[in-house]
Amino acid sequence: MTDKTLVRRTPWPASDSWPVCTPLQPSVVYASESPDALDDMYEGRAEGYAYAREAHPNADVLAAKLDGMEGVQGGIVLGSGMAAVTAALLGVLKAGDHLLGGNQLYGRSLRMMSTELPRMGIATSLADPTDVAAMEAAVRPETRMILIEVVSNPTLRVADLEGIAALCKRRGLVLAVDNTFTTPRAVRPLEHGADIVIHSVTKLLAGHSDATLGYVGARDADLNDAMLGVAQTLGLTASPFDCWLAERGLYSFELRYDRAEENARALADHLHGLPGMTRVIYPGRPDHPDHNRVQGLLGSRTGNMVTFEIEGSRDAANRLVRAARNIAFAPTLGDIGTTLSHPATSSHRGLTPEGRAALGLSEGSFRVSVGVEPADLLCTEFEAAVRAAARD
Ligand SMILES: *Cc1c(COP(=O)(O)O)cnc(C)c1O
Repeated sequence: MTDKTLVRRTPWPASDSWPVCTPLQPSVVYASESPDALDDMYEGRAEGYAYAREAHPNADVLAAKLDGMEGVQGGIVLGSGMAAVTAALLGVLKAGDHLLGGNQLYGRSLRMMSTELPRMGIATSLADPTDVAAMEAAVRPETRMILIEVVSNPTLRVADLEGIAALCKRRGLVLAVDNTFTTPRAVRPLEHGADIVIHSVTKLLAGHSDATLGYVGARDADLNDAMLGVAQTLGLTASPFDCWLAERGLYSFELRYDRAEENARALADHLHGLPGMTRVIYPGRPDHPDHNRVQGLLGSRTGNMVTFEIEGSRDAANRLVRAARNIAFAPTLGDIGTTLSHPATSSHRGLTPEGRAALGLSEGSFRVSVGVEPADLLCTEFEAAVRAAARD
């Protein structure tokens, strides 16, 4: 038997009620009523979508939520955090320009600066973003842009955001801030003088390790247009399903963030007293090297990331990870559950031991992305793991 209409799309059932959750719309392409109607849409005389790489409803719904969180109008959702970094950098820079970066940026951002941008004739260099004088000394006549993160990975140093924003204003530079670790719950970079805010939405914002996404938003509408053009042409835009998952994740973002932050504070304090512990870094602790700046910039919003160092070598690190059976040992952050990473074998494996030592990292250094489990459970599990590591 043949059904001649089988290949035709089935009409969507009519309904006088409407769904309470955001629909997922995976359509790549949209049909129009006539060439006139299509023309009206392209010319902005009518609303509508044409092709999903350019725009689609799930990306727009997500972008509107993120815009609200960061105080942006017209921000853009992209297929990954690195797509957001790419859109920001290529939306501003051209051959002959110089980009100055913070010296502890995310690994792939550093690689973009060391490898990809120089291939395009864009010069790059790094300086310490906790030290405005060092940043200013690194500015060249051709410097066009500065890229920093508020809290660095994994040493959790806090950039002098306001000092660098003032420097950018004085020297006419574009300041882009990757706000992934801090999130708008802790700081909204545009309110502190940044021009562009960048996110890996993959991390805390989406929060469930099941969507890879980015976001970039600028204060200036022309800059948003330039970044959108780069994203659409280079194909950096996001899939509807990932946008749908991330938007769903955002409904619980503030609850997750607050709980994870409270847990991080408790875990940092608990780790501090344990045997074999040589260092605990948490921006909310008074012994943090940037404690004064933390209070001014972040207040009590000191985040969910804790870094610690135990005595001993790779063997002790292996014992700790094996003993922490219920904590995922995985090089990510921002999941609803706690995850543990070991910079020497993951994010910072490309450095020599000396290079790691210069950052204060050893084989005993761990970074924890604290999740929303009960704090006493986390403290008990980490204590057992740290004690197991200390036993030869
Ligand atoms: C993860 C991360 C990125 C890259 O995001 P992806 O979604 O993995 O591409 C960029 N910046 C920071 C600070 C990150 O943690």
